[in-house]
Amino acid sequence: MNGRKYALVTGGSRGIGRAVCLKLSEMGFNVLINYRSNDAEAEKVLSLVRDSGGDGELMKFDVADRAAVEAAVAAWKEAHPGDYIPVLVNNAGFRRDALLVWMEDNDWNAVIDVTLKGFLNVTRCLLQDMLVSRFGRIINIASLSGIKGLPGQTNYSAAKGGLIAATKALAQEIARKKVTVNAVAPGFIATDMTSDLDESQLKKLIPAGRFGRPEEVASLVGFLASEESGYITGEVISVNGGLYT
Ligand code: NAP
Repeated sequence: MNGRKYALVTGGSRGIGRAVCLKLSEMGFNVLINYRSNDAEAEKVLSLVRDSGGDGELMKFDVADRAAVEAAVAAWKEAHPGDYIPVLVNNAGFRRDALLVWMEDNDWNAVIDVTLKGFLNVTRCLLQDMLVSRFGRIINIASLSGIKGLPGQTNYSAAKGGLIAATKALAQEIARKKVTVNAVAPGFIATDMTSDLDESQLKKLIPAGRFGRPEEVASLVGFLASEESGYITGEVISVNGGLYT
């Protein structure tokens, strides 16, 4: 890796993404904190990073908007000549749950777009530099829903299942260039995204008897981002307290 180590975390302003930013910062990465709309939360993450002795910058764009992604990455490259971003965590995402029979086109499309177009838009922008530099780490945050399928989430399950398949395909395309691509599949993690769920009921289904913490996902992401994980690629690793399919 040349110069400073940069890591871009999409959806880095809240939940799992925030924990990933803090973990990568602790590991010495300069974190590029992407988010879509909530400036206050993003500023808070940057302050936490700086308070703990690290550094980073905010990168506000919608991952599903190809032109916005390309403009943001081009601006970053112009401001950092000679540098590249060797670590990408594709984490931005949301649910729009409904039974398929009631599913609105908007809810289907939004979830597919943030997950799959988001992966495509951001990964494509950073990949060439990783290949040329012969080092890269791409970590895609999938979900138990993309492995097992969950009722009420056909859109989300389809999106995350597609992300897992894309992870496996891309891993084989680029392994020789020393760029790895892996997916992390969280189960139930306590964040804003799951704040509407009833943990007291759902925890009965989880062998560990509780929801996971964002930091418990971030520690795995940190390992996959490190140099030590170089022979692991195309994998899907669950972080789910034993809640297997
Ligand atoms: P969260 O707390 O709701 O945070 C979502 C983050 O994504 C925010 O930083 C948000 O930024 C950002 N974001 C949303 N849409 C975006 C877009 N179009 N472009 C850029 N940023 C966007 O969610 P979370 O629970 O941490 O989930 C993070 C990832 O883990 C998601 O991919 C989710 O599907 C996955 N996951 C979560 C769980 C769980 O139990 N929590 C389980 C399995 C998988 P703004 O606030 O600015 O919109």
